[in-house]
Amino acid sequence: MRKQVRILGVPIDMISQEEAFQKLVLFLEGSSIKKIYTPNPEIVMLAQEDQRLLKVIEGADLVLPDGIGLLIASKIKGLGLKERVTGVDTMDRLLNYCGDKKRSIYLLGGKPGTAEIACKNIEQQYPGIKIAGLHHGYFQEADENEIIADINAAAPDLLFVCLGAPKQEKWIDRYQDQLNCKIAMGVGGSVDIYAGTAKRAPVIFQKVGLEWFYRLMKEPWRMKRMMVLPKFLIQVIVKQ
Ligand code: UDP
Repeated sequence: MRKQVRILGVPIDMISQEEAFQKLVLFLEGSSIKKIYTPNPEIVMLAQEDQRLLKVIEGADLVLPDGIGLLIASKIKGLGLKERVTGVDTMDRLLNYCGDKKRSIYLLGGKPGTAEIACKNIEQQYPGIKIAGLHHGYFQEADENEIIADINAAAPDLLFVCLGAPKQEKWIDRYQDQLNCKIAMGVGGSVDIYAGTAKRAPVIFQKVGLEWFYRLMKEPWRMKRMMVLPKFLIQVIVKQ
């Protein structure tokens, strides 16, 4: 049975990293497309004002609690979220699985050239994996039919969509009935991490829940976006 909690009205699956992975493996054997999103507090805040985004998240097959802020909110309110389940860690496990089982992926997103480098690195890092296709994420609406045709011709098991949130979630939702893949997952800046143009925080920062702080030091322009975190926590305390 699927268990979800609502944080400021946004549904999040109550699931551990291991349970999420097992569920995703089952999804890979399924017959219809499954939509996976990995929201953080910033997206939860956006969904307060964007009803369409809220509906999109409600329509997901799995919503992973990415972002330490969601875990803090869960602790404050005793909601019982198990642990942080990041998009990039989950993607790593899925890529490993695809290597072992010779499954295929399609990588959509990132600046022109980035997905190519990411896919080369992924091929090296996860031997056996099939790169079914890739496309950068700076396309016009007029190009979308062509991109969907390319994805469908490649028929990947997994489609990773890296257009940034909430664009990627809305894109997956909009085209879900046209896409030929088992899993479509929004994984934001993961394409940059696999390409090596962005770095994850050292493990110690990840362990103590300060990955966001490391990212802020590396990309100070994120300050404005991150200021949403204290606002988020205040709303959780006041409203939830
Ligand atoms: N991106 C894209 N198309 C767009 C906007 C963004 O492909 O129209 C890519 C961008 O190049 C980056 C990723 O989406 O690789 C978003 O990264 P970010 O770290 O901002 O996303 P987050 O993980 O924070 O949602």
